Amino acid sequence: MRVAYTIQEVRDWRKSHKHADAVLGFVPTMGALHAGHGALIERARRECDLVVVSIFVNPIQFNQLEDYQRYPRTLEADLAFCDQRGVDLVFAPSEQEMYPEPLDTYVEVQRLTTHLCGAFRPGHFRGVATVVTKLFNIVQPDRAYFGEKDAQQLAVIQRMVRDLNFPIEIVPVATVREPDGLAMSSRNQYLTPEERAIAPILYQGLQAALELARSGERSAKALVARARQIIEQEPAVRIEYLEVVDAQHMQPVEHIMAPVRVAVAAWLGKARLIDNVFFDPAEKSGPES
Ligand code: AMP
Repeated sequence: MRVAYTIQEVRDWRKSHKHADAVLGFVPTMGALHAGHGALIERARRECDLVVVSIFVNPIQFNQLEDYQRYPRTLEADLAFCDQRGVDLVFAPSEQEMYPEPLDTYVEVQRLTTHLCGAFRPGHFRGVATVVTKLFNIVQPDRAYFGEKDAQQLAVIQRMVRDLNFPIEIVPVATVREPDGLAMSSRNQYLTPEERAIAPILYQGLQAALELARSGERSAKALVARARQIIEQEPAVRIEYLEVVDAQHMQPVEHIMAPVRVAVAAWLGKARLIDNVFFDPAEKSGPES
């Protein structure tokens, strides 16, 4: 496995390794790698000839300096993690390498960023879209893998690729969970043992909303009320948002007629956790429901 710290090294590696019909898969991350990232990497490894992982804690997508500074950085363990999964190249640039001078150019995806995290983290998705554009231009992948855990991010990147004609296929990967249902996240490290025990309540709330939808309920308000009822049983959890949005444009819906996501963000102690579930009203009910 090669490790590149500069953009030039990535370009040189690409020139010598990417043959005409080789498919290059790319997994952008911020490091502190866990089984969620592992699922993206393993999928890329199965589907592509070459796999590149980037590890970069992107300062321009954090709206709080403190959050950026305390974000876990575990490069050595991350490199071993990638090596074990057969990654060909890890790109781990410094902040100076990615932002040698302040940017005058940003990529801004509108509409899809007006709700959910976009409403509570000003500038966040502009930072994400901009760094992903830079990484796409540096790595020039054929496919890029993104987790459904960050559903709004996934939708934003899909939209950006369509709007700006990036010749890249975006591949969504299902959320990887702990055995008790908690979505894996680098930020789960911030939870105390007591908070960690409570944290699965978020997914339980979303699951309850999903069950209600599967039983035929189409009112977004009713689904939100059901999820709230469960999550609010834990007073330590402070809900930031809990919304039903259409899965494509991330806009709130009242009546569910097309695929939606029920999405939540909540604070538990020092950790801000997000999660979501997908529901398609056209889906056939299982035999048991
Ligand atoms: P991050 O390092 O948190 O920026 O995440 C890098 C990529 O991994 C993003 O596409 C995330 O959506 C994805 N990811 C993070 N956690 C999970 C998870 N639990 N399941 C699936 N994908 C994930």
